[in-house]
Amino acid sequence: MLGPVPDDAARLRTHGLQVTAQRLAVLRAVSAAPHGTADDITTIVRGELGTVSRQTIYDALTVLNEKGLVRRIQPAGSPARFESRIGDNHHHLICRTCGRTVDVDCAVGSAPCLTAADGKGYEIDEAEVAYWGRCPDCVAQSRASSRRPTNAPTTPKRAARGAQKSRRSRQRMSKKAVRSE
Ligand SMILES: [Zn+2]
Ligand SMILES: [Zn+2]
Repeated sequence: MLGPVPDDAARLRTHGLQVTAQRLAVLRAVSAAPHGTADDITTIVRGELGTVSRQTIYDALTVLNEKGLVRRIQPAGSPARFESRIGDNHHHLICRTCGRTVDVDCAVGSAPCLTAADGKGYEIDEAEVAYWGRCPDCVAQSRASSRRPTNAPTTPKRAARGAQKSRRSRQRMSKKAVRSE
């Protein structure tokens, strides 16, 4: 995008919304914690503003979503999640085990998923694609635990060494995951 990026207050005004401290804090929280649930957003906003009712935050999320300032995704079996990356119809990778959700671009070019094989006359503006599976951390963790002998008696020393090793490898994995987000 070219030109100056409008600040949050200007974006609220452009969309006909009154600028309030709560709405600004919600916008910031959604940017800071992409794919956060309303509860996650509530925690962050309360950390910034102190006491704010849950309803106020839900209302802010609803109106920001209606005006297109915040995107709401609703993965099956999960509470709604919110993000500030809007307008590009990107998709999500979701871990079945821990729920970690990351962005992924359309498989081909820009937003081809908006062109349905047969649109049946619908005016389509969004395609919500979720790739379900397990994140690298959870895959590594289940590999590590399947390697661990289940009934063989281990000396305390050996067990401690094993635990230390798997903790190190988990840390490596989570650093990698953070970089790729
Ligand atoms: Zn996971
Ligand atoms: Zn996303």
